[in-house]
Amino acid sequence: MICRQYTLSGMVQGVGFRPFVHGLATSLQLNGWVKNNNGRVSVLVEGDANAVATFEEKLISEAPPLAKPSIRDRLDTSAHNLKSFLILNSEKKTELQASGDIHLPADLYCCPDCQAELLRESDPRYQYAFINCTQCGPRYTIINSLPYDRPATTMHTFPLCSRCNSEYHDEKNRRYHAEPIACPDCGPQIRYLSSLEGEQSGPLNAACLAIRGGQVVAVKGIGGFHLVCDASNESAINWLRQKKPRPEKPLAVMLQPETVASYVVASEQHIQELNSSERPVVLCPRKKYAPLPSNIAPNLNELGVLYPYSPLHFMLMKNLKRPLIVTSANISGEPVLTDSNDVLQQLAHVVDGVLDHNRPILRPADDSVVQIQNNKAHTIRIGRGKAPLELSSPFIMPEGKTLLATGAQSKNTLCLAFDNRLVVSPHIADMESLRSLAVFEQVSKDFSQLYQRDINCIAHDAHPDYTSSRWATRQAKTNEALSSKAIWHHHAHASSLYAQTASSNLKVTENIIAFTWDGVGLGEDGGLWGGEALVGRPGHWQRAIHFKPFKLPGGDRVAREPWRIADSLRLHCGMHAQSVDPLLNSMWQQNLNSPLSTAAGRLLDGCAALLDICKSTSYEGQAPMELSVLAENCDTEKHIDMPIINNEVIWLGLVKWLVKKEHDKTFASRVVLNTFARSLVKQALRLHHSTGIKTVGISGGVFQNRLLVECIGRLLAKHNLKLHHPQEIPVNDGGLCIGQAIEALAACLGNPSD
Ligand SMILES: [Zn+2]
Ligand SMILES: [Zn+2]
Repeated sequence: MICRQYTLSGMVQGVGFRPFVHGLATSLQLNGWVKNNNGRVSVLVEGDANAVATFEEKLISEAPPLAKPSIRDRLDTSAHNLKSFLILNSEKKTELQASGDIHLPADLYCCPDCQAELLRESDPRYQYAFINCTQCGPRYTIINSLPYDRPATTMHTFPLCSRCNSEYHDEKNRRYHAEPIACPDCGPQIRYLSSLEGEQSGPLNAACLAIRGGQVVAVKGIGGFHLVCDASNESAINWLRQKKPRPEKPLAVMLQPETVASYVVASEQHIQELNSSERPVVLCPRKKYAPLPSNIAPNLNELGVLYPYSPLHFMLMKNLKRPLIVTSANISGEPVLTDSNDVLQQLAHVVDGVLDHNRPILRPADDSVVQIQNNKAHTIRIGRGKAPLELSSPFIMPEGKTLLATGAQSKNTLCLAFDNRLVVSPHIADMESLRSLAVFEQVSKDFSQLYQRDINCIAHDAHPDYTSSRWATRQAKTNEALSSKAIWHHHAHASSLYAQTASSNLKVTENIIAFTWDGVGLGEDGGLWGGEALVGRPGHWQRAIHFKPFKLPGGDRVAREPWRIADSLRLHCGMHAQSVDPLLNSMWQQNLNSPLSTAAGRLLDGCAALLDICKSTSYEGQAPMELSVLAENCDTEKHIDMPIINNEVIWLGLVKWLVKKEHDKTFASRVVLNTFARSLVKQALRLHHSTGIKTVGISGGVFQNRLLVECIGRLLAKHNLKLHHPQEIPVNDGGLCIGQAIEALAACLGNPSD
């Protein structure tokens, strides 16, 4: 007989790992124990030597699907002569303190076993909205502190009934140590509050009745409230749009998996993503003549689709038997609301009722969003199911040191860096409002506490007026133990390409050509960059080529009024402005509130406005998105050459061609995208010839454009250049914090982990 103790690290808590260890040990007739140990799991087994060897092998090879264990160390000890195998209480802060190993599990969609029980009339949890097991249920949004045990979650106020209690303690039950276990007798409950008539009995039916009747209902989910209405009801959607207000930005649609083919043309990758346990919103090509009103995604040819994931969704979908609009309940740009009182106060003008429940949400998590480009799934928003996102850093932090990267002004996320880990929060919000800042502060504090890290350094965008930059500077001023480091926006974009992920493992010593195309960020020379080709690696970026700068008359206003850019481009070409605003011309001539920019995103906006496709916008990216929809209907290879003179890409020829309007908008739109793709490849080739570098990275919001990126991919391949486009990291500002962390580490450390 031998006795051996293991320490396991990795994703081992909140994923049914201890019950699995228990089952495995008892099946091999081994005695001993398993316990959570401050982020790690400790196991002791004693018994036959062969059985212990089998145990060790299966511990990894047969671990539950969501667990990612690795054996940290093993130690043979003298026999304890134990009589059984037990799950012991968690240990916190032992001498083996291993805070570096803490893993916070993401929220998990309702698993097939629980779905079956949910819909089985004879089951005690029939139609119970809080059904869960060791393989599913909320995690990130309910965990107060680690180790992950029920008293440390928002479920601690619901004492277990005798049935739940015996399931929780029954090793053979699939709810053995399922921390959020609950049933109708002891767990949380739903309620329905009608705006006009107050609380209604039969909450699920009351909510369904309202939705069926064309009303908008706020439904409390896993990471926050959704606004829900009938997706086949055009006037309900119109009402939601008018009231929210959200005039044109596309809305996501929840579909039953078996109906998806009626609405979208979903490839294997689309279906795989829709079915993944993260259950993200997946952008899918909309089917022609799909039986859905066009005001779901005006002027676009894609639909954001998601499958039901919480038990409540499954019940709503089963009851209503129709596609549903499911969109975050928030004030535009702010974090999703998590409390019914806030919904009733802030969205009273939108909602006709609230389907609420009394399981608190500790911190918000919006739905994740995924798109397919070049037949690969790319995350464009990190959210519920994916967050916290774990990446490996190419740099190892000195022991005990922790860095917080505070992200961008829009699509803010934050990243905690320690050891070789990068832990990324879900999408928080655009940072303009007080509530955004409050949630940002809460998440940064929670991350620091949950992962048991004291922050020593804060990395932030170099733009001094970003909310997160001001916050970082304030923190450093009031706390002597903290330093802060400003990171150039586009350096951060480029460095985000170096996070180590399943799809991507660039060596930090390798130089690349990085295109950072977006809709403006502060550049090293004080200008508004966004159309740069950088060469180098983290800590060593050189601006090599950029678009010829152009004026943005009206400053920030151009983002919503692309016609201003169109006029500016005309004026740069020596033509007259066509503007309705007589001030624009003098503003431009006298350089009043007309900063220079090289941003590719703004240039594309200008092209869309020159073609009269989109002269003013109500959401970010609208102009190039609408341009792409037209371009998709034309397969011409025509493009306008943009010469590179003194490292500047000269776009005047394109503008002059567009102004002539010799072709229809569809053809011209395709030419615009071809021109940008060809220009990128031309720049890449020039830099390849001068440096020998073959890897071409892309980062920045412009590269959310599927058609553009697919065109770039084809052209680069033709020239034997390698496109580097990590799948897990949003190309938009949602991935900026990752690059800020890597860039700051490169500057401070410069010692690659390999
Ligand atoms: Zn389950
Ligand atoms: Zn119960």
